[in-house]
Amino acid sequence: MRENICEDFQETVREYLIRHQSILDIISKSQETNAYISRALTKAITQCGCIELNSKKINLPESSTISDIKDAYNSQLKGNLCSTCSEIIEQELGKNLFYIVALCNALELDLEDILLKENKKVKALGRFNCT
Ligand SMILES: [Zn+2]
Repeated sequence: MRENICEDFQETVREYLIRHQSILDIISKSQETNAYISRALTKAITQCGCIELNSKKINLPESSTISDIKDAYNSQLKGNLCSTCSEIIEQELGKNLFYIVALCNALELDLEDILLKENKKVKALGRFNCT
């Protein structure tokens, strides 16, 4: 195993991506695994009940500062994932990451470079990063 987890994972995905090597398969599997993350989160709320969604419109005065806005918004979740839901969501995130990395590999992009550039961009833009 390499010390660089990004490089190591890219190599693992390169080795074990067998059937879905077409770029169309990769992007559709990425979308599919993303949907499974949403489904697992939904089931944690509606079937397990370990977390609750406390969603509502947030009304802020026009004079709100960026700091006010940051303080007003949150995940709108109440509670904590139980160990079962946490494990399921981690597995779904892992599957999604697999296809994100497969996309990097198909396009000959370096995951670590992407993470470093994005981290640098977010830090440079600070609160003005509206992604
Ligand atoms: Zn749960």
